[in-house]
Amino acid sequence: MDKKSLKNDDLVLTGQYLGVVEEFLPDKQSTFVKDGQIYATKSGFIDIDNEKRKIEIKTHQEKDRKTVKIGDIVIGPILFLRQYSVGTNFYTINQKIHFNSSYFGNIHVSQISDRFIEKIQDAFQITDIIRARVISLNYNEFNLSTSRNDLGVIYADCVICGTPLDKIGYNKLRCERCGNTETRKMANDYRNVSEPLRF
Ligand SMILES: [Zn+2]
Repeated sequence: MDKKSLKNDDLVLTGQYLGVVEEFLPDKQSTFVKDGQIYATKSGFIDIDNEKRKIEIKTHQEKDRKTVKIGDIVIGPILFLRQYSVGTNFYTINQKIHFNSSYFGNIHVSQISDRFIEKIQDAFQITDIIRARVISLNYNEFNLSTSRNDLGVIYADCVICGTPLDKIGYNKLRCERCGNTETRKMANDYRNVSEPLRF
């Protein structure tokens, strides 16, 4: 028996021995068990859930997952403002375009910034594009945070005339077209986003 223990992302082939049931909880789709020994039913990459000890084989496409987990970084537009929160959906998850996003995120006023935010409108407006971190799942909504420096608004238009706003201070922006000034909780790369978006 091959005693070499498998690690996450190891490539395995169909039929390959993966371990024993005392060691792993075998995934029903991608593995099969014979006499207490686990084998791969497809070729792909090892994925071991360290908490549950679940072992699974994933293909490249599956590893480029389009599901959301705690700690993921998402980008999306502000859809609406409530009194104590804003709603957003996700254009990208971990820099990968999410074409048919049905996910919905919620940012509570207490999770917007390390600094005190008196009212939501001081931090976000509808149509702003924001970058946020997933901090918890609450039923079907993800709770997000933008309190880190690299999180917050990355693109915003003037609420009066629609021109992209220029950053003129820590939380201040100005419209060069109409002179309107606004405030936002900006990410430190506001309008200077360099992250590659993978298709
Ligand atoms: Zn303007």
